[in-house]
Amino acid sequence: MTNCASCTRDKTKQLINASQVCSYCEAWRMECEARWILINYPATRRSKTKPMTARDWLEALKAKRGEDHARQLRQVMASIYRQSQK
Ligand SMILES: [Zn+2]
Repeated sequence: MTNCASCTRDKTKQLINASQVCSYCEAWRMECEARWILINYPATRRSKTKPMTARDWLEALKAKRGEDHARQLRQVMASIYRQSQK
């Protein structure tokens, strides 16, 4: 994943994996996106109001932004999900 290691901005955010990052870099942006998807899309079951699952969303994203991006995002989502189960 793109990280904040080489950027010189203040590291004001903490990622799910405990690294400190700024709020401008891709690492933070991706984690926000992952949280947004987990809040807005059910993990497994579709419904009338939520016709897409998180998995469907990742599939669509893969077509749009490529497999690497989708895989990284899925890893972040899995970390957030695991943390929420503790
Ligand atoms: Zn940064």
